Amino acid sequence: MLRVIFLGTAGSLPTTNRNTSAVMVNRDGELMLFDCGEGTQQQMMRAKTGMKALTSIFISHFHADHILGIPGLIQTMSFHGRTEPLKIYGPHHVHEFVQILSALGYYKLHFEIEGVDLEPGDIIKREGYSIQAIKTEHSVPSLGYALVEEKRTGKFNREKATELGVPPGPLFSRLHRGEAIEINGRTILPEEVVGQSRPGRKIVYSGDTRPCNAILETSRDADILIHDATLAKDQQEWAIESMHTTAEEAANLAKKANVRQLILTHISSRYSDDVTPLFEEAKAVFENVTVAEDMMEIEVPYQDRTEFKNKTNR
Ligand SMILES: [Zn+2]
Ligand SMILES: [Zn+2]
Repeated sequence: MLRVIFLGTAGSLPTTNRNTSAVMVNRDGELMLFDCGEGTQQQMMRAKTGMKALTSIFISHFHADHILGIPGLIQTMSFHGRTEPLKIYGPHHVHEFVQILSALGYYKLHFEIEGVDLEPGDIIKREGYSIQAIKTEHSVPSLGYALVEEKRTGKFNREKATELGVPPGPLFSRLHRGEAIEINGRTILPEEVVGQSRPGRKIVYSGDTRPCNAILETSRDADILIHDATLAKDQQEWAIESMHTTAEEAANLAKKANVRQLILTHISSRYSDDVTPLFEEAKAVFENVTVAEDMMEIEVPYQDRTEFKNKTNR
């Protein structure tokens, strides 16, 4: 299972219907947060995501709308008796940030928090996937992130294996794992019965940024690109000055990168109730675009399976 849950989709300031930035990814039950704006813990309660399975928080940058939810979330998890360690990643100074957090409010935390400073290009390898830190262009040191799954082994051709005289059972598994086997004096190679390896899934999160090359390159053929689209194109100058992206620019980048689906987020309060200007200018460039709203959930299937299912919980 790979699911993206949009907990906060507002740019800079919360509004009555949008919280500040937070995107949760649930991968086979493991929870990861990409940014954690103020009030994220309540959004997690509303979305019924739970907290215990949260292993990591990835901070894009140290603007308040991306980090203020962390202290409260940590204290709540400690209050609930959490013992599982938590890792917090981000640009420089995460380590100091975590030290301050741990001392805040004289709370004695019952679990370990490790702060890890990342450089653009760093890769965190985990079982079955990795997280890549991407160089972005914002007004302060900033990172985007990509979750990239490992390739999966190809499909197993049962009929072919049976034809070759392999009995169903453990020998099937050995072949599927890539081992050659011997049957009736003949060696059978895995490539005779296992198809080509299939791509894993890829999700890219830009954080706050101008459109930039590193996000474009990392997003090539991504299943989902979640991109800053703070403003509409009539606010282009302000987008450049504040180092954000317009909806049209995000759509141009998605098109160049050939992503499957573009989700626009970090929506300025001026469009909070009516995102039509953002949606229309992006749609004119890139067909498969959605403007995120709080509590929106997306299932990300493998490319050789069905289409995306978007679900709104409001
Ligand atoms: Zn922001
Ligand atoms: Zn920012």
